[in-house]
Amino acid sequence: MREELYNIYSKSGIRGSVIEYGEKICSSLKDTFDDIDRTAEINQLKVVNAMQECRASEACLLGTTGYGYNDIGRDTLEEIYAHIFNTEAALVRPSISCGTHALTIALRSVLRPGDELLSPVGLPYDTLQEVIGIRESVGSLKEFGISYRQADLLPDSSFDYDAIKASINEKTKLVTIQRSKGYDSRNSFLVEQIGELIKFIKGIKPDVYIMVDNCYGEFVQTIEPTDVGADMVVGSLIKNPGGGLAPMGGYIAGKKELIEKCAVMLTSPGLGKEVGATLDILPKLYQGLFMAPTITAAALKTAIFAANIYEKLGFSTHPLANSKRADIIQAITLGSEEGIKSFCAGIQAASPIDSHLTPEGWDMPGYDSPVIMAAGAFVSGSSIELSADAPMREPYNVYFQGGLTFPHGKYGILNTLEYMIQSGLVKEKDLC
Ligand SMILES: *Cc1c(COP(=O)(O)O)cnc(C)c1O
Repeated sequence: MREELYNIYSKSGIRGSVIEYGEKICSSLKDTFDDIDRTAEINQLKVVNAMQECRASEACLLGTTGYGYNDIGRDTLEEIYAHIFNTEAALVRPSISCGTHALTIALRSVLRPGDELLSPVGLPYDTLQEVIGIRESVGSLKEFGISYRQADLLPDSSFDYDAIKASINEKTKLVTIQRSKGYDSRNSFLVEQIGELIKFIKGIKPDVYIMVDNCYGEFVQTIEPTDVGADMVVGSLIKNPGGGLAPMGGYIAGKKELIEKCAVMLTSPGLGKEVGATLDILPKLYQGLFMAPTITAAALKTAIFAANIYEKLGFSTHPLANSKRADIIQAITLGSEEGIKSFCAGIQAASPIDSHLTPEGWDMPGYDSPVIMAAGAFVSGSSIELSADAPMREPYNVYFQGGLTFPHGKYGILNTLEYMIQSGLVKEKDLC
């Protein structure tokens, strides 16, 4: 077996010392991986139970055309999401283009001219800055007279309760909490931490709505933000809950009155949830959701493996190799443009699709500095599949996530190390 493993890796261009180093790291992670498997087991049952309770049937997989009236597959899937997230209702649609779109719908559904949005956790994700109007943009909330306030985190990533309290006023209508760090160096928040924050905010203003940007957080723990008081959670189906199979889409789960408002924003006043044909997409959304707990587990294992690989070589990692995970993102500070390029090239070359391409930085819509992305994915841009992206700016962090299977994630990470050695950024003698 061992010889076979070395042979197949070396055929893929990975030298013996890198494989050996990887094996050592892997065996040190056994207990951690057992815990992840346990979480996946609980979440798998949560998903299956929801499908059973909502009586998912073969007919649910068929889909509709045209207006999409009486689409039982769509309606049942939304009921299943509501069960899983412990909410009254959900909106799960292929017509939600991406996570940013889902978040935009959620923001627009609640906020009206004169209202204020508060982020108590610092600057939101890059693309949302244009949605809100933090960076000027056509169609932003700001253009509609909706103001924005922010309380920054303390230097140790904890909540600045005094600043949050001072930011809540009579205009504050909606609070947005981003679970994952996005392109930031702070920690991602555990659901328990989000719960504490929600309790504090609702203690000051009970009627304020709390929305959590749940991107990359789904199924990482056995509870979700809506289990600890969030009124709405929002995410993308080409991340965790799509299980790698959903080819597009987004979801919002939450209080019935809010989901109805979201549906109206997505379609039209008067139409709401009643329209929206699903064509042939439903089997992938159902099966992807079914796969999501174990797919998320594979991504978590890959992230932890990567953190251990690079931390022991002296790179800073966020989160640290041994810390409790709040999402599937692993940031590694590579410190230079060259480091970013080598790492991303290693991921790309290990991909099942487009492995022969070399990723380069480009000005992606919604981002304010060039972003380099490595992704050789079955679903374009899917970041539950093994992928890495990095804004080309100090401190040259690569944000890496995904891996539909741990063996593939492991290979991808070993390949980045191989590329780093070849570029002289890591010394082979340091692998021990
Ligand atoms: C990915 C992400 C988004 C936006 O999702 P897209 O699907 O890329 O539009 C928003 N917030 C966070 C934290 C994310 O990770």
